[in-house]
Amino acid sequence: MVEPTWSDRYRQHVLDLIGRSRIHVRDQELDQLLLVDFGLGDFEREGVAITDIVHTPALRLKILVLLPGQTLPEHIHPPYDDSPGKEETLRVISGSVRVYLPGPDTMREGAIPEGKEEFYTLRNEHLLEPIRQLTIPPDTWHWFQAGTQGAVCYAFYPQAVESHNRFRDPRVPKHIAPGY
Ligand code: ZN
Repeated sequence: MVEPTWSDRYRQHVLDLIGRSRIHVRDQELDQLLLVDFGLGDFEREGVAITDIVHTPALRLKILVLLPGQTLPEHIHPPYDDSPGKEETLRVISGSVRVYLPGPDTMREGAIPEGKEEFYTLRNEHLLEPIRQLTIPPDTWHWFQAGTQGAVCYAFYPQAVESHNRFRDPRVPKHIAPGY
């Protein structure tokens, strides 16, 4: 018998969160659900699940799912060519997400993954709950962390070039940036 992979093990949990969010998703979109551990080997701690709703050169809309307490590592969408970099809008459908941006330390609820302080430099906390949304400007470092119920969100991007994303943790491979 083939041993289930970490992705198989967490997939049902992610599907349950999507189901409980009451968002309407096509079967094909669920089939294409991608669980990403950023090459860091601990999906439950640092990872995200995504599926695309729209993905054209001009627009990307995806569903982003975080398990309870799961962290999407600190990263930036820098400028390239004639573009200022990728803008990102996050809108919470269910659960809650704390978004960390540059600014004064207002961290209250979140927690830096243990032993990873050097890769999480931002402490300016923005709590997003259902129907709240936040737009992260291009070329701005950010990271996310779900609350105790996990989170299901929409993420909107006005452009779908993903190859320029950079992560603070150098262990994240450069090719592993399909859009965050
Ligand atoms: Zn991002």
